[in-house]
Amino acid sequence: MLANLKYILEPARQKKTCVGQFNVLTRGMARGVIDAAEEAKVPVVLGIEEDQLDICSMQDFAAFVLPMAENASVPVAVHFDHGFSVDRCAEALRLGFTSVNYDRSQDPLDQNEFAVAGLAHVAHAFGASVEAELGHTPTADEADGTYAYTVPEQAEEFVRKTKVDALAVAVGTAHGEYKTQPSLDYDRIKKVAEAVKIPLVLHGGSGLSDKTVREAIASGISKIDIFTDINLACFQGDIQAYNDGIRMKSQAIPYELHAVKVYAAEKIRLFAGL
Ligand SMILES: [Zn+2]
Repeated sequence: MLANLKYILEPARQKKTCVGQFNVLTRGMARGVIDAAEEAKVPVVLGIEEDQLDICSMQDFAAFVLPMAENASVPVAVHFDHGFSVDRCAEALRLGFTSVNYDRSQDPLDQNEFAVAGLAHVAHAFGASVEAELGHTPTADEADGTYAYTVPEQAEEFVRKTKVDALAVAVGTAHGEYKTQPSLDYDRIKKVAEAVKIPLVLHGGSGLSDKTVREAIASGISKIDIFTDINLACFQGDIQAYNDGIRMKSQAIPYELHAVKVYAAEKIRLFAGL
């Protein structure tokens, strides 16, 4: 069933468990993730980022993902990730996405707050949820420089003023491939979780060790976002197909689907504590 993010994440927050968000670019990737979630009987989030729209448009994504979500036996949120403009976020809402991440994390705090509050007002009228970020989770390359950690003392007021449904926190992770295992600030997660009482989101979930994931969830993370590793898993399926002598795309597609499903199932079960 199609669900919004709040519907999926609030029970997870209360049970101190976690839901996976997997950003996908093809129908086959989406199918693999939903199959894994249905087998584990847990909700899941499927997303696409604004930066990926040149590969798969929002319209195409909505056209194949929304019916799959509606027909799924578990709740599935359809999420527009890292939307940088209000126009793109509004377009996602119009197309039927049930959740948007309005990313104004590189703006000054007051501008982030003002912009997100306006979008949340509109999104809630659509029955959709809004995720925003306080602090800024950089790319793995940028993370070597100054890291803009979430300031716990700013979180309560930000959430109260914006009325966001989920808050992404910058606590040591980064987007893309890590050169070394990141060191997370678990105390910072706990302080924000205590201050806001809404689900917290960890971006940069690819490549984290199981131990790191478990400690992040125990500290108060309710959603972990993954793109890099599921992207790699899908391509590994293609490589496996090639190594098995497959030379037709039609015969490689089942390999991709299987590789995505196996990867997603492992993460979904880890996040859910199964
Ligand atoms: Zn992200």
